[in-house]
Amino acid sequence: MLELRHKLVLVTALIYSAVVMALLVVGVLFTNGGIWQFLLGCGLLFVIGWLFYLPSMGFPPNLVLIDKETFPRLNGIIGRIAAEIDAPAPPIMLVSGEHCALGLIGLRQRPLLVLSQPFLLRASDEERVALIAHEIGHLRDDAVARSSVHRVAYVALLRMMRVLDLFPCGELLTWPLRKCKQYLDMIRQTDSFQAELNADYWAAQLAGPMAARKALLRFTNNVTARTHPTQEIRLKAIDAMPLNPPTVVLSAVESSELAKELCQWPHVMQNRESEVRAEIERENPPQSQPALRNRTT
Ligand SMILES: [Zn+2]
Repeated sequence: MLELRHKLVLVTALIYSAVVMALLVVGVLFTNGGIWQFLLGCGLLFVIGWLFYLPSMGFPPNLVLIDKETFPRLNGIIGRIAAEIDAPAPPIMLVSGEHCALGLIGLRQRPLLVLSQPFLLRASDEERVALIAHEIGHLRDDAVARSSVHRVAYVALLRMMRVLDLFPCGELLTWPLRKCKQYLDMIRQTDSFQAELNADYWAAQLAGPMAARKALLRFTNNVTARTHPTQEIRLKAIDAMPLNPPTVVLSAVESSELAKELCQWPHVMQNRESEVRAEIERENPPQSQPALRNRTT
């Protein structure tokens, strides 16, 4: 029996092969060029496809990232949590929205940790550890990397279906692709559910199961059912874990300095924004207004 992650890789590889085969058949039928030239063209198209797809998820500029100099405490705590999970400490971005996430973005597919400032402000110390440990825990699971690969296959599949639908017998032509999409939908969801449970394990391991439970109840009401198991299933999995003591506990100093940095964040961002604006204005001074002569009233 194949493991789920192997199935995902297999289906993804099949979709890529189908795209190449389709291009190959079209090429052999409609071009006079040599087969190797055509294959090379396919390869180039594939690379160009990736290049066009990835920049659409550009990495945020340094200006909005939480640098170590301005936010030493938050970076320090995240470094501690990452070391405990044995994962690299990712660059951090605070947002004013109410969601936390971990993604691989940009051309180089670098990890980015997105944390909700309102959540972190409201959370207790142990809930903060649980929230951050859950997201960094995703780095220990290959699911994030897998999803960036099969998402491209998924988009390719949808586009192929759209093109085939234009033909008179489109319904018939897209049937195998629809079946493939159904299957891919199903295994992508199962994979994503498992990745969430694995990340919850890290939250419970570092902050303790009780804190993981509290953080889940307070801060995960608006996650999507397509990618996350129900709260009930997640709580059940946490409750089944041994009641080990937390491995990361914030000290009173860490806690108060973290709160200070979180409160300072909106002002730091505002200052940076006005500095950038001032710099732009310095480089492109507004056109001076012609002096009004013979002014009459
Ligand atoms: Zn998650």
